[in-house]
Amino acid sequence: MNDPQLRGIGMTSQRTRDRLVNRLRDQGILDERVLDVMRQTPRHIFIDEALSHRAYEDTALPIGFNQTISQPFIVARMTESLLAEGPLKRVLEVGTGSGYQTSILAPLVGELFSVERIRPLQEKARERLKRIGLKNIQLKHTDGGMGWSSKAPFDGILAACAPEEVPEELKQQLAIGGRLIIPVGGSENQELKLVVRLSEDEFTTDVLECVKFVPLLSGTIR
Ligand code: SAH
Repeated sequence: MNDPQLRGIGMTSQRTRDRLVNRLRDQGILDERVLDVMRQTPRHIFIDEALSHRAYEDTALPIGFNQTISQPFIVARMTESLLAEGPLKRVLEVGTGSGYQTSILAPLVGELFSVERIRPLQEKARERLKRIGLKNIQLKHTDGGMGWSSKAPFDGILAACAPEEVPEELKQQLAIGGRLIIPVGGSENQELKLVVRLSEDEFTTDVLECVKFVPLLSGTIR
C-alpha cells in the first residue's frame, strides 16, 4: 500500500490490525482467507477520522444517519458462514453502510452486488471502495428488502440490517444451493439465521448466534 493513510500509523497501524485479527482467531474464526482479508483491510478509512483511533476495537461504531459500521467479529462470522460450503460466484449484500463488510466480502467472491437505502452513505462507500481498488462490486441505491431481482439468482445473500421476518423476495432470489445470512427480529432480540435453498421450494433455516443489528427499513433516503 503506497497511500500512507491507507497503511495507517499508531492506533491504525498494521500492528493494531494484526492484534484484532489474532483476537478474532481466538474467538473462533477459523477461515484463514477471511482473517487474511481482514488483516489487509484498513477499517479506519470506513469511519470518521475523529473515531479512527477506535477502528480496530471489536465493536460497532456510528457512521451517521443513525447507522453503524458492523462489529469485526460479526463481519468475520457472517463472511465465514456464507463461504462455508465453497466459493460463491454472485453475492448480494443488503445494507452497504460504510462499505466495510463489502470490502471484506468482495475479494472472496466472484461478483458482489450491494444495495443501500441511504444515498449519502452509499456515495461515501463508493469512494472508499474505489480508493482501495476493489473492482468486482456494483452498488445500487434502493430498498434492499426487495433484493435486486434483475441480478438474481444469487449464490449468497448477506443482510447487515434486521427485518422482523426473513423477506420472501430474498429467499426467492437465491439460486438452488444458495445461502442467505440474515439477522432477524425486533430491536431487543435478534437471531442471526442461515437459510439454505435446497430446491425450488425447500429451504432449511439454522440459527447461528444472538446479534444486534440496525433494523431493515423500507423506502429510500436521497
Ligand atoms: N455492513 C455495514 C453495516 C451498515 S448498518 C457496515 O459495516 O458498514 C446497516 C445498513 O443497512 C445501514 O446503512 C442501513 O441504511 C441499511 N439498510 C437498512 N434497511 C435497508 C434496506 N431496506 N435496503 C437497503 N439498505 C438498508
